[in-house]
Amino acid sequence: MDNCIFCKIARNEAKSWRIFESEKACAFLDINPISEFHTLVISKNHYVNIFDVPEEELLEIMKALKKVVQLYEDKLGLKDVQIISNSGRAAQQDVFHIHFHIIPRKKGDGNNLKWITHPEFVPKFDEMVSQLK
Ligand code: AMP
Ligand code: ZN
Repeated sequence: MDNCIFCKIARNEAKSWRIFESEKACAFLDINPISEFHTLVISKNHYVNIFDVPEEELLEIMKALKKVVQLYEDKLGLKDVQIISNSGRAAQQDVFHIHFHIIPRKKGDGNNLKWITHPEFVPKFDEMVSQLK
């Protein structure tokens, strides 16, 4: 993908602060960090998101993600981390090359996600489960 910024980063054609690299995946610092060491883990091959990534490639991303978290635990004493991946525009995906955010968190950092819960959906659970049959 010629115009994909993450493909360019994977090919070392665009600047990034590389944290980790394997044959199939790599990790680098997010340019709009929410916290220190906010990191993105991507596959080197271009996939849009969770819908089109093959299982084996997803596994390679997960292996790289685990290595980075381990590295941050060992070197930085990381204890709290949020792993987030957005797939699709309505799910707040902005870069359409699959990636997982590693967001180190600290108590009181002001970055808590606020989810709006819907208790009125609970009575529909039976119907929802049957939709999948
Ligand atoms: P998302 O909203 O999940 O698609 O997140 C895309 C992320 O990519 C954002 O957090 C951006 O800050 C980050 N990003 C975009 N371009 C770059 C870049 N050149 N280097 C590092 N991070 C980037
Ligand atoms: Zn790409």
